[in-house]
Amino acid sequence: MLLLLACFSGSVATDDLVQLDDPPDEPLDTGDPLVEEEEPPTLADTVTLEGLMGHLDALAEIGAMNNDTRAWTTEGQLQSSDYVIETLTAAGYSPWQDLHVLEDLDVVEIGLSIDGEDQAYGEDYVDMSGTGAGDLEGDITAIHPQVPPGEDANSSNSGCSAEHFDGFEAGDIALIQRGSCNFSEKVENALDAGASAVLIFNEGQDDRQEPVQGTLGATYDIPVLGLSYALGASLVEGEHSAQILLTTELVEYTLTNTFAELPGSDDVVMLGGHLDSVMAGPGLNDNGSGSALILELAVQLAALDPEDRPTVRFAWWDGEEYGLLGSYAWIEELESYDDLPDAYFNYDMVASPNGAPFVYDGDGSTGSNAPKGSDHLEVLLGEGFDLQDRPFGETPPVSRSDSGGFYQVGVATSGIFTGAEGNKSSAEASSFGGLAGEAYDRCYHRSCDRLDNIDQELFLANAKAAAHALEAWSADPEELDEDRVLVRPDRLAVPEADCGSTEAFKPAL
Ligand SMILES: [Zn+2]
Repeated sequence: MLLLLACFSGSVATDDLVQLDDPPDEPLDTGDPLVEEEEPPTLADTVTLEGLMGHLDALAEIGAMNNDTRAWTTEGQLQSSDYVIETLTAAGYSPWQDLHVLEDLDVVEIGLSIDGEDQAYGEDYVDMSGTGAGDLEGDITAIHPQVPPGEDANSSNSGCSAEHFDGFEAGDIALIQRGSCNFSEKVENALDAGASAVLIFNEGQDDRQEPVQGTLGATYDIPVLGLSYALGASLVEGEHSAQILLTTELVEYTLTNTFAELPGSDDVVMLGGHLDSVMAGPGLNDNGSGSALILELAVQLAALDPEDRPTVRFAWWDGEEYGLLGSYAWIEELESYDDLPDAYFNYDMVASPNGAPFVYDGDGSTGSNAPKGSDHLEVLLGEGFDLQDRPFGETPPVSRSDSGGFYQVGVATSGIFTGAEGNKSSAEASSFGGLAGEAYDRCYHRSCDRLDNIDQELFLANAKAAAHALEAWSADPEELDEDRVLVRPDRLAVPEADCGSTEAFKPAL
């Protein structure tokens, strides 16, 4: 409640007064019957770069005032939510913040000494996400390492097989190399063999030297630390022992999702994007851009106030950068899956500086299936680009953003994405402009994701395409409803980052 009160500052009322003092001019009645009645503007017509950039400027200012971040659990994220609430309130909405409390084990105290020598946290070792606590001493046993390392990443299969632990003495500390299987598989095998702690050292190729930062996907009862290659490799030969101290405490974190709804018929279309940035920077492209796009569409739609409309719901998710937390929490806590929308559009990174407009595939043409009805959304977004005479590409269904949960529960889903850390191909550069062989967004998840990291023209084009798709879906919402079957999985599987996997590791967008 405190959060909500903080949102309603005096500025809203002041703006209202200004508007009352200065009413818009009445339209001139020419009295000429020959003058044709003008077509009412489309939603896409009403979307302007000024509107979009106004929101982005506000988010940039919030970042600047809050240590250059708008990440989950920071004041920058809460102020971003407050800005969205204030803007929507001024536009006539009754927006709300939806809070979810998550519990997590935080490391309070950590220390590692080897053969009596203290090691440096961050430089020599780090804790892995999901580590347990412990205060112990033990002999180190190397598990099937490959030192020197193979030429390619993931050459080592250290600890991937239970047989690697044959002869392992219970109570020893397992020293395992990063490589071809998940960290969690290594830890499970070590636990089965009776290890008192696990040290996972980096594999040793040029880009695999620093202490391994990893996510285990579960919480274990023993300490699991990531070591630099240099430290790990130095322990492979000879006899070594380690002393480990790691204490944890249970901490509660609050997710603040922000919502607004324009009420209408029983058909529900939803637009969503994440409002939080990474900790490393203010996140103006990722995802100030998508947040601003959705906000401007909400403002303009309320002003148009179309008749016979479906219910249009807008969501600004929190905690996306930490594993799609806000959207998954919301979906999981729905009382009934009847409360899910008929269609969901996701907007995450829509103004990448070397970007290209990619529509999320909905008809399986990229080889990945999306839920029934997604093909229709893909077509509508494509029309939005066609109407602007702009070429567009497509991307496989994006599961590393908040669309992931909607795909999983079977909601028709699409969206627009302009590229992240990947490089633009020459074919894409000829179609969409920009530099081939360079990242779509060289500031992806970095501190330089600022206002000058925005392609404004691409931003506006995407917003207009999104506006068209929303308006076109709203004009004929029944099309998606026929025979729609929602499949409720036993448990939503939130994708976990796992740097040990053979799959290319891709963080949440
Ligand atoms: Zn993102």
